[in-house]
Amino acid sequence: MEILETLYREIVGFFSFSGLIEIIQTDNYKALLTQDGIGKALAPLIPVLLVIELIRAFFFQRLSFTQYKIAFFTYIFNRVISRFISIGMVGICIGLFEPYAIFKSEFTWYWFIYGYVVWEFAHFVYHYLGHKVRLFWCLHSTHHASESMNLSITYAHFFLEGPYADIIRTTICILMGVNPPLLFLIMFIDGTWGAFIHIGENLVKDARLGFLNHIILTPSHHRVHHARNPLYMDTNFCNLLNIWDKVFGTLQDEKHEEEIEYGITRPIKSGDFWDAYFGEIILLAKDVYHAPTLKDKVLYIFMPPGWHHSGEHKTASVVKKEYFATQKP
Ligand SMILES: [Zn+2]
Ligand SMILES: [Zn+2]
Repeated sequence: MEILETLYREIVGFFSFSGLIEIIQTDNYKALLTQDGIGKALAPLIPVLLVIELIRAFFFQRLSFTQYKIAFFTYIFNRVISRFISIGMVGICIGLFEPYAIFKSEFTWYWFIYGYVVWEFAHFVYHYLGHKVRLFWCLHSTHHASESMNLSITYAHFFLEGPYADIIRTTICILMGVNPPLLFLIMFIDGTWGAFIHIGENLVKDARLGFLNHIILTPSHHRVHHARNPLYMDTNFCNLLNIWDKVFGTLQDEKHEEEIEYGITRPIKSGDFWDAYFGEIILLAKDVYHAPTLKDKVLYIFMPPGWHHSGEHKTASVVKKEYFATQKP
């Protein structure tokens, strides 16, 4: 019955139940008062919400498998691959860069605020480059391929995106003096909120969350981020605090009159996992291959998606400019 055991392990693993089971089995409820214990207890939150979302969609007969297919196969694919590749990027970056930190912070509430602001900046940098540098877009686009929004999208990432994000975020935070235990606490909050902002319309119809929409980055903002409408493209790069979107002018609220169209701008075979996962890499390889000069080949890799050696660019900035030009009275 090895297959049943494997299945049991996969289910427990997916729901992140093991930490909670360990606390219950060892009667160690005091652990719930520690940061590690709270983490273990809250870990199943997103997977459980995802299942509730699926059940609700099923009962309201809005469940279409295509909406979940890409994320589902990406999750399975990543599970298989991560058995072979496990990179402790966070640990490596801490070890490498801690000696060069500009100063040392401590585990206190005011350093927590400082650390969170720095973390959001680092997240902004990683996410912005993920949209503006074609090579990094190849890693990030899998997350944007879905043409609907639901909690399963939380799991839809190219397997190298995690290490890429962690190298940038951890390095910036460590160099800026964020203390590692603080960093782990921030990462935990960020991860939980980062998953929650993918909540689907089946669970929360209006995701502006009332007054919160004015002070933090809500699921509504993140829905906008996943939209391919010219007005919404390349906006809302933050995760929880949207200060850096405010600073860099990339904050965009959801507008009633502009209904969100999820997905990326190029035509994608609907629900096709292979296209969502490798499509952008194949297209980049083709562009590099066909580029007339070495300089163009290099530019294809580092310029924003949509850049073309002929000068006829279809980057997000160009598309947005054209859109705003048609909006003027
Ligand atoms: Zn993005
Ligand atoms: Zn997202």
